[in-house]
Amino acid sequence: MIRLSKSVLSEKEKHAVWEVLDRGYLGMGSEVALFEKELAAYLGVHKQSVICVNTGTAALHLSVMSLGLKEGDEVLVPSITYVASYQAISATGAKPVSCDIDPSSILIDLKYAATKVTPRTKAIMPVHYASNVSSRENVYKFAEQHNLRVIEDAAHSFGCTDDHGLIGAHGDIICFSFDGIKNITSGEGGAVITHDPEVQAFIRDARLLGVQNDSEKRAKGERSWTFDVSHQGFRYHMSDVMAAIGRAQLSDIGQFIETKSKLLTAYQDRLKDVSSLVLLDLPRQGIVPHIFVIRVLNGLRDALRTFLDSKDVQTGIHYQPNHLLSFYKIKGEECPCAELVSSELLSLPMHAELTVCDVESITNFIEEFISAAGYV
Ligand SMILES: *Cc1c(COP(=O)(O)O)cnc(C)c1O
Repeated sequence: MIRLSKSVLSEKEKHAVWEVLDRGYLGMGSEVALFEKELAAYLGVHKQSVICVNTGTAALHLSVMSLGLKEGDEVLVPSITYVASYQAISATGAKPVSCDIDPSSILIDLKYAATKVTPRTKAIMPVHYASNVSSRENVYKFAEQHNLRVIEDAAHSFGCTDDHGLIGAHGDIICFSFDGIKNITSGEGGAVITHDPEVQAFIRDARLLGVQNDSEKRAKGERSWTFDVSHQGFRYHMSDVMAAIGRAQLSDIGQFIETKSKLLTAYQDRLKDVSSLVLLDLPRQGIVPHIFVIRVLNGLRDALRTFLDSKDVQTGIHYQPNHLLSFYKIKGEECPCAELVSSELLSLPMHAELTVCDVESITNFIEEFISAAGYV
């Protein structure tokens, strides 16, 4: 069976976890502080700019909360994303305002987004779909024009670069996910990267039930017994066990980038001329693919999925349009491109243990299917 996605772990992670277990303190402590420091060094930012939490969703939730949005405030978000982006917004009482996507990249369509701006619009949450970070510059220009904050859902783009360097090094608020199958994992986990001291202070406390300055104490093996709380918080902190896995993974990021970049090129070279398929428009450089997505035309997507399944090749669908989900549906609201394209999207296996040989087999199966279907 060729898996769609997979956590890729080595002896390093096992030893790192053992060490934490041996210490007898599993909560948030020095290991998390070290992971934050190493993430900051990798990204080239100040260590205060990195705040680790227990999921990417928590990173997004606390980021939206940190902006002080009130019931009825609005956040622009592309309809095609993991439902986590939407839940993080609605959890604060703010409204996720669904935006259509550009069908060639599946990134937020800023022309469409402009038609959705109201006096209640406070932020935009671009999603680096399939690790494509090429719209960042335009998103920031758009945000400046409309006086919005930017919360980047960078769950797919750890290790990616654009003209300004690594994702996370620059920008307003950037949220990573380290869940089991992301570019690096900490088991579950996430991080917020921001240079805004108010957002940093808010999130640092909010991840520990709002207990003031508890983060600083825990990094030194202490904790607060008497304290004040000035705002809503959650149990969203990262544990030392998770951080140990994350640190080991971060030390292998170079390897992950190299392997996944090769796989991406292999897929693209092999599939670019296959009929009935459209590859996504991706920048040539700087991508560390979390998922590899193609569009399957002529109504063949589901049949191709079934065929690949019969060949023991797992596939996925990233994602259904969120504006059609019962909880988020608004009468009369349409995102035509998202609705059309979502029935064509197909994710092929992508993880750091996949080989170019696997890609060869997968793409051979795809070609076999397309010709048998009569499209050559
Ligand atoms: C994985 C993911 C998230 C959420 O991250 P978790 O760590 O799983 O909570 C958010 N947005 C996107 C686009 C993702 O792929």
